[in-house]
Amino acid sequence: MREFDFELSLCAHLEREGRLVSRQLGGAVYGRRVLDTVIVEPGPEFDERAAITPERLPAAAIESSVGPGRARYWKDVFDCHPDRAERAVELAVERGFFERERRGGRTYVRQTTRYPDWVGEIVAIENKPDLDRPGDLESQLRTDVSLALADRVVLATASYVTGAHLNRIPEEVGVWRFDADSGTIDVRREATPLPTDDAGVELLEERPVRADVRIVNPSEKARARRRLAERAYGKGWRSFDYPACERCAPDSDGIPYCQWKDRAVRESDDCGPDCGGYDEDDPPTVDGESLRAERTPWRADPDGRRRRQSGLDRFE
Ligand code: SF4
Repeated sequence: MREFDFELSLCAHLEREGRLVSRQLGGAVYGRRVLDTVIVEPGPEFDERAAITPERLPAAAIESSVGPGRARYWKDVFDCHPDRAERAVELAVERGFFERERRGGRTYVRQTTRYPDWVGEIVAIENKPDLDRPGDLESQLRTDVSLALADRVVLATASYVTGAHLNRIPEEVGVWRFDADSGTIDVRREATPLPTDDAGVELLEERPVRADVRIVNPSEKARARRRLAERAYGKGWRSFDYPACERCAPDSDGIPYCQWKDRAVRESDDCGPDCGGYDEDDPPTVDGESLRAERTPWRADPDGRRRRQSGLDRFE
């Protein structure tokens, strides 16, 4: 089974279980790492977060010292480049997290609500349907464990898992054997909770004779976890395009299944006039947001927390 099919099938399965799931998200602090699949379990104030906006809230807005009380001059409350701050204000206002007002030609901002404590456990899943073609699996998993950005790290595979496989990967990594046809997960090994509140060691580059690493302190890690959770919340897992081809017949989960290739297809790689089965048509319409809202605690259209309409002003 190809990794794309496997990944989408696993995401659909997790979503049907009611989990907040996303895919292809940056999982590094200083290095480069893309996490295949991410689950964010709701924390104590999840409903408050869901009530603000279905979209990602910008990190700079969350990390600024704008509070929900007195409106503050925007330039006084950001500790980043003004262009980034300005973009963050625009997005935060648009998404109902900030409101702004003009006084004496200056823009003042305040939060519509305190940023909630909404992130519970984060699970990072590495998908490797075929364990006989592991690539740099071991090194990736060692990096994920030593950084400990996610609370748990899991390897998901379609392969039969032997003791030798288990011995080759870090013992903290959980192992799931996922059967996409029957939609079942056989937990071959439970994941060990990782010390997300402590400093972590991030592997930046591994060369034959040396490895470049960087220590990530707890506050850097907390910020990175929040950014990861926000991206997961806003993005979900259906971030692919559907091909403009008659042969694409999405299944009940919205997976872009191709009847000609008899598998899920990635529009950008698989589809177009060069494909032998291509039959031009409008792309199928799939309401992935409704599916996500029905199955998980994510809310597609919350009322928001804005107290009054105040967005007509612009920066000066
Ligand atoms: S373009 Fe080819 S791969 Fe894509 S949906 Fe059509 S038949 Fe399938």
